[in-house]
Amino acid sequence: MTPDATELSARLLAWYDRERRRLPWRPAPGVAADPYAVWISEVMLQQTTVAAVSPYFERFLARWPRLADLAAADLDDVLHAWQGLGYYSRARNLHACARRVVAEHEGRFPASEEGLRALPGIGAYTAAAIAAIAFGQQATPVDGNVIRVLARLYAVVEPLPRARSRIEDLAKALTPARRPGDFAQAVMDLGATVCRPRQPNCPACPWHDACAARAQGQAEVFPVRPPATVKPLRRGVAFWLVRADGAVLLRRRPERGLLGGMMEVPSTPWRAEPWPLAEALALAPVAGASWQALPGLVRHTFTHFTLELAVIAARVGAMAAAAGLWTQPQDFAAQALPTVMKKVVRLARAGPQVSGRR
Ligand code: SF4
Repeated sequence: MTPDATELSARLLAWYDRERRRLPWRPAPGVAADPYAVWISEVMLQQTTVAAVSPYFERFLARWPRLADLAAADLDDVLHAWQGLGYYSRARNLHACARRVVAEHEGRFPASEEGLRALPGIGAYTAAAIAAIAFGQQATPVDGNVIRVLARLYAVVEPLPRARSRIEDLAKALTPARRPGDFAQAVMDLGATVCRPRQPNCPACPWHDACAARAQGQAEVFPVRPPATVKPLRRGVAFWLVRADGAVLLRRRPERGLLGGMMEVPSTPWRAEPWPLAEALALAPVAGASWQALPGLVRHTFTHFTLELAVIAARVGAMAAAAGLWTQPQDFAAQALPTVMKKVVRLARAGPQVSGRR
């Protein structure tokens, strides 16, 4: 007989009590979780692995141990501490959210999913995770791990993303009223350590005998995905402009939009059509410089498109006027440069020295 929801959740919680991962943001069994730590960890873990997040989390909490500390921090410092985690809008929202909670909620997170979702950067998943883990609400965070495990447990044949709402309902039906936070973390752990994307370790799974995909002998087929689509390509030209004293021109991206507020090597807009050199030069940060194309291309994949940047370089005199921040290369580490711009820096610094006015 197929076990019911109560039996399935009880088995998973018993497994979690034996096998739970020790993670820097997870308190010891029975100890209440700190909403601030849960929030930071959940935001960092979006799109990033546990192994990559752990050192960032520890540094972040050492620097800003309480919500009020983060609210009082400089946005630039927060963006800088976020460097390498990607998706910088998360860091900007983190900072905005800390300020909002201090200003409007006396420094304490709301306990309900609805209240949490009203805060900057907190979507359905993060709200449910904080409500369940930090406040013991019967909420069900559903991420890729949960989708994979549930799609296999019930052998959901409908492809994603159409199957998502059905899988969410299945996950909710399994979420117990007691220990919902442990249940949420147990599904996450099961997905990360046992019901892995490839080669799931079914013999070690507490849902082994109930799992429909395992019974069919084709666990890896689930969740069913639609055929892959190729990401569109965008192109741009980056301007590596070096002053006579070796400083390089950087500028800040607009506050809103992709990589908002981060620093960058100035570039043309990014678009589908290739950039003829003359058209790109019309947008260069200084007029009349002697630009040279550097060998190679910078390629970077964002969520919705792939970017190819050609890099052209020039040298200008000490008094050159250009909008931006002249920065010595040894000081780049202090600037919030996103990964794509670090690639531009690497390519430019590996290329031939540019000549021109000194
Ligand atoms: Fe995943 Fe296998 Fe467990 Fe099914 S039995 S939930 S496929 S690990």
